[in-house]
Amino acid sequence: MRDIHHFINGQSVPGTSGRFGDIYDPNTGKIQARVALASGAEIDDAVQKAVKAQAGWGATNPQRRARVMFAFKALLEKHMDELAVLLSSEHGKVVADSKGDIQRGLEVVEFACGIPHLLKGDYTEGAGPGIDVYSLRQPLGVVAGITPFNFPAMIPLWMSAVALACGNAFILKPSEKDPSVPVRLGELLIEAGLPEGVFQVVHGDKEAVDALLVHPDIRAISFVGSSDIAQYVYATGSAHGKRVQAMGGAKNHGIILPDADLDQVVRDIVGAAYGSAGERCMALPVAVPVGAKTADAFIERMTDAARALKVGVSTDAEAHYGPVISAAHKAKVEAYIQMGVDEGADLVLDGRGLKLQGHEDGYFIGPTLFDKVTPQMKSYQDEIFGPVLQVIRAETLEEAAALPSQHAYGNGVAIFTRNGLAAREFVSKVNVGMVGINVPIPVPVAYHSFGGWKRSAFGDLNQYGEDGVRFYTKVKTVTSRWPDGDIGDQAFIIPTMK
Ligand code: NAD
Repeated sequence: MRDIHHFINGQSVPGTSGRFGDIYDPNTGKIQARVALASGAEIDDAVQKAVKAQAGWGATNPQRRARVMFAFKALLEKHMDELAVLLSSEHGKVVADSKGDIQRGLEVVEFACGIPHLLKGDYTEGAGPGIDVYSLRQPLGVVAGITPFNFPAMIPLWMSAVALACGNAFILKPSEKDPSVPVRLGELLIEAGLPEGVFQVVHGDKEAVDALLVHPDIRAISFVGSSDIAQYVYATGSAHGKRVQAMGGAKNHGIILPDADLDQVVRDIVGAAYGSAGERCMALPVAVPVGAKTADAFIERMTDAARALKVGVSTDAEAHYGPVISAAHKAKVEAYIQMGVDEGADLVLDGRGLKLQGHEDGYFIGPTLFDKVTPQMKSYQDEIFGPVLQVIRAETLEEAAALPSQHAYGNGVAIFTRNGLAAREFVSKVNVGMVGINVPIPVPVAYHSFGGWKRSAFGDLNQYGEDGVRFYTKVKTVTSRWPDGDIGDQAFIIPTMK
C-alpha cells in the first residue's frame, strides 16, 4: 500500500496522527493508496515552520519571487503529461481534461509572474503643505488554502501562485480524495527555487480544517468546496479574525433563445453538462430553451448528442468523460435521478446502471437527460454534480432569465443568442457572478478574477487576478512630513486639509 505523506519544509513527512484516508481509483473502485490525515498538532508544526520561512520570503524583492514563478511555470509545462496521468488516476477525469485542469492553474502562475507590477503602491506628492502620502502593499504572513477534489491542480494554483508571489507563506490543505498532485506541486516549487517551508502541504479532513480556522498565526483562509462547508469556513474563520474568501457550489443555467445557432448550442452544452462527469462548479447542468419549438428541437438533438457520448476509463483517449469520484457520490447522483423521476420530470436518458466491461466496479454514470423539469423540484434546486442535464422549458426570455436570478446559487450562467441587445440586457440584469454570451463555461482568464454570487461565494474578494492580489496583501498608508523648523501652533483639533 502506497502512503501519501505531508510535504513540510521541502520534505515528505509521514503523518503522526495515526489516522488515514483511503485513496480510490475511481476507474476500478479499488483502494490504491492511503493518505495521512493531520491532527491539530501537525497543523501547528507546519504553521510554525511556515512563520519562520515567511520572514525571509516576504523580504525577498518582488522580482526575485516572480523568477521562482517563471521557473515553476516552465516545470509545470515540462511535467504536464506526468501530472495529468497522476491527476486522472485519483480523480477519474480523462487525461486530456486533466491537462486542462493543470493548464488553467498554470495560467494563474503566468499571471503571478507579473505581480510585482501590481504590488506598486500609490503616491501623492503635496497632499498638504510639505506632506506626502503613499501606500504600500505588504504580504499578510502565513495564509492557508483549503481545496476541493474536482480541480486538484487548478484551484491550489489559483490561490498559491498569487499568495506566494505577494510574499506570503502558503499552507495547502488539499482534498483528501486526490492529494498526490498537490504534493507534486510542492516538489516542483522547491525545484523552481522556492525556499523550504514557504509552501507546505498538509493533508486532512475536518480536524485539519478546524485547526487552520482557529490558528492564531494564519492570517487568511481561501476555501473552495460545497456551500454549507464554505459558509461554515467563512463564519468560523472570520470569527477568529481572519480574512476569508469561501467559494461554494453552483447550479448554472444555459438560456437558449429561438434565434441561437442550435447546432453550436448542442455542441457547447453537451460538453459543458457532461464533461468531467458534470463535476465542475462551472458545469452547465440546466438548459432553458425559450419557446416550445426551440425546446422540442433542442431535446431531439441533445438526446442524440448525449447518447453518442463515450464514457470510459480516464486513460481512454476516445472517452468523453470518466467515472465520478467515489461510490458514495455515484449513489448520491443516482438518488437525484430517482428523485427527478419521483418529482414528475420526464427522464429522456437514464445513465444509471452503466457497467464498463472489465471495470464493473468503477464509478461510471451514463449521460442522463431530463425534460420538463420545474423550479419547484428539489432535484432542480440542489446541486447534483454529476452527468445529469435538466431542461426547464420557458415561454419568454423574462421567464427564463428569472430562473438563474432567483436560484439560491449564482456562480455562472450562459445565454445563447444572435441578438446582441437581448444579451446585453440579460448581462445587465441577471443576478449571477459570471456570465457567458455564447460561451458555455465562462471561467474568466487569469488576469480577470473568478467568483460567483449568493450561495456560490462567501466573502467579498474573488479568486486570482487583481482581487487575488488584494486578498493576499494588506495596505499600509503613510502620511509623511519633513519639518522645516517653522514650529506652528499646538494642534488640539483633528488635522484637516482645509
Ligand atoms: P467539500 O466541501 O466536500 O470539500 C472541500 C474541502 O473542505 C476539502 O478540502 C475537504 O477536506 C474539506 N471539508 C469537507 N468537509 C468538511 C467539514 N465538515 N468541515 C471542514 N472542512 C471540510 O467539496 P468537494 O466535494 O471536495 O468539492 C465539490 C464541491 O466544490 C461542489 O459543491 C462544487 O460546486 C464546489 N466547487 C466550487 C468551486 C467554485 O469556485 N465556486 C470550484 C470547484 C468546486
